[in-house]
Amino acid sequence: MAQTKDPLVVLKQYFGFDGFLDAQEEVVGQILSGRDGLVVMPTGGGKSLCFQLPALCLDGVTLVVSPLIALMKDQVDALQAKGIPATMINSTLSWPEQRERIQKMKAGEFKLVYIAPERFRAESFMAALAEVKVALFAVDEAHCLSQWGHDFRPEYMRLGSVLETLGRPQAVALTATATPTVRQDILQVLSLRDPFETVSGFSRPNLELSILNTAKHEQKYARVQEIVAKWKTGIVYCATRKQVEKVSETLHEWGVKCVAYHGGMSDEMREKIQNEFIQKKADVAVATNAFGMGIDRSDVRFVVHFEIPGSVEAYYQEAGRAGRDGEAAYCQLFYNYADIRTQEFFIEGSNPGYATICNVYQFLQNDADENYEVHRTLMEIGELAEVKNGIAVGSALSELRKAGYIERFDIPGKRMKGTRLTQPHVQASELQIDRQALDEKERRDRSKLDAMISLCEMNQCRQQAILEYFGEKDAGICGTCDVCKEARSGKSGGPRPPKNETESLIVRKALSGVARMSVKSPNGYRGVFGKGKIIQMLVGSKSQEMAKWHPEIRTQPNKLSTYGILKDVGTSYLNELFSAMAQAGLVITQRGKFPLFTLTSRGESVMLGRTNFQLVWPGTVSAKKRRSDEPSIAMQEFGLDSQLLSRLKELRYALAKVENVPAYRIFPDQTLEIMTRLRPTTVGAGMRVKGVGLRKAKLLRPFLDEIKKYQAGR
Ligand code: ADP
Ligand code: ZN
Repeated sequence: MAQTKDPLVVLKQYFGFDGFLDAQEEVVGQILSGRDGLVVMPTGGGKSLCFQLPALCLDGVTLVVSPLIALMKDQVDALQAKGIPATMINSTLSWPEQRERIQKMKAGEFKLVYIAPERFRAESFMAALAEVKVALFAVDEAHCLSQWGHDFRPEYMRLGSVLETLGRPQAVALTATATPTVRQDILQVLSLRDPFETVSGFSRPNLELSILNTAKHEQKYARVQEIVAKWKTGIVYCATRKQVEKVSETLHEWGVKCVAYHGGMSDEMREKIQNEFIQKKADVAVATNAFGMGIDRSDVRFVVHFEIPGSVEAYYQEAGRAGRDGEAAYCQLFYNYADIRTQEFFIEGSNPGYATICNVYQFLQNDADENYEVHRTLMEIGELAEVKNGIAVGSALSELRKAGYIERFDIPGKRMKGTRLTQPHVQASELQIDRQALDEKERRDRSKLDAMISLCEMNQCRQQAILEYFGEKDAGICGTCDVCKEARSGKSGGPRPPKNETESLIVRKALSGVARMSVKSPNGYRGVFGKGKIIQMLVGSKSQEMAKWHPEIRTQPNKLSTYGILKDVGTSYLNELFSAMAQAGLVITQRGKFPLFTLTSRGESVMLGRTNFQLVWPGTVSAKKRRSDEPSIAMQEFGLDSQLLSRLKELRYALAKVENVPAYRIFPDQTLEIMTRLRPTTVGAGMRVKGVGLRKAKLLRPFLDEIKKYQAGR
């Protein structure tokens, strides 16, 4: 597209701003260069300007897809007030009105036209639109096209083919939802061509993030008491209603002005409590995560997570309710291995599985009256249909409703809903339910929880780890979180930045060795060798085996530029260093037939000297006091207890039967033996067992539980 105006002039002239915020400049530049793109910025980060400004610079009209009519109207009004020719088209307009606006659009009378997504369904509308010269197609709130976002709108799924029909105009998608899966879905559904991606503005430098590994309730309460005394106003998030009640009672006993809030309360009650908190009649709110959507209290000074939340997204959103005014605020998360079970229970509940759905449907059919109606509470249905997880009943009903087999309706005079079969002739065995989608959703939920667990287990700066999870590149170390603080305090054993150039060089050399022995693709590095081989190469091993897989080492050692570059530091130092680099998120083990070792994108940045890092340096590990209550697995090693080993083998056999795979596919014998020796009881410790790794972390928990049971029984 021909560019006609200077963006900085337009910025001042129409928007009255003297400069760009954060990443706006880069985004505007990329768009004006003609590229498709994906822009992720938090709410209030200034996304609208990213397409409004180019719209004024480009020839032709910019179409903006936006999901909410009210929001659309606000934006159009604001643009018109600035003297920018803008309008909107949605189904509140009659067809002649719509046609008139399209005519004007064709005549070049508008620079920006907001369009409601459902308009693209109408063929007449699409036909009229095909004659318009579109400069830029902006998809606002683009996460709406992902089933894994929090606000899925089926109409958004169509936008890919709309772009196709319009002859693939330049397109840009914008959202505040930064999770990797959602971003991937956006790129895929819209089929953006060689898009630029910018993620920015998520860092919250005024937040002090801290994760405390503790299994003891007294310790949690003692810490809450300190936090309330110091920071006064805040929110304590609990995973369950029961816990909300317990914690709020305790706070009351301490004389803290607090309110309790959870999903089991009536709407009026919840509104009343939110208002009390907003109007500052209470200092502390103890709540399940249902609380907070509507609260707008900028002086929240602390957020405590009494238990681990289900995802990094949820954690950061909730923690982010602290310090909205930009002043310092404190976020404390209590990490206790046992609490993970609660989140797993929620995952099981919201992913009932095909069998449970059929089961519930069968029950509804048996129980329905002559009007095909069932008047029972979820609890009754759960009991009678023998569904153990109470949440699963509601989830199964909602799947059936989505698939069009049932409706839910209010029963006059009762505080419960009834259920009506809409296709009563359909048998349970004939239900058309997308099983693959169900499995996929469960898998994603579990991997979100796994990411949250590794955030707790890792030794990386919390802020940096979160920003990287959201896709921000080159995020620096925050300097204020617990990991950074521990690093700075210089306590031996904690992670710290390199002391000097020599240390920094060792790490960068080690990383370049890993890179040299991996394959680089557009999606990052893929491992080819195991850690042992890479270390052998780095120390310049002349072993037979070494020569076998890399013959040029024997003939032309100089060809492999990283061969022997860390000869001086030695194998055992490197072994420790590699574990520390894995903990710091610089390298990972990819699970496959063999564990393959490779770089993360963060590792690449460090290798190239683009980003700073901190590590638990070799030699300090054994002296280091773990943040966990449990001793490091490196410190305790038990002999091979045949009784425990046979229990683990039995468990493996049982799991193999359930999963319908041969036993060694669960874990090979060697892995069970190492587990028996090391007895890991946390996911983090378990993942360091050879043969486990991230991919199999999911299989780990029953084994950890078994080990714990075994230990407890002795
Ligand atoms: P988002 O759509 O990302 O939620 P908005 O586009 O509504 O954010 O912008 C948030 C606020 O920032 C608005 O009040 C807007 O006027 C302001 N803003 C945007 N860009 C700039 C800028 N370059 N300079 C100053 N303020 C800006
Ligand atoms: Zn930090």
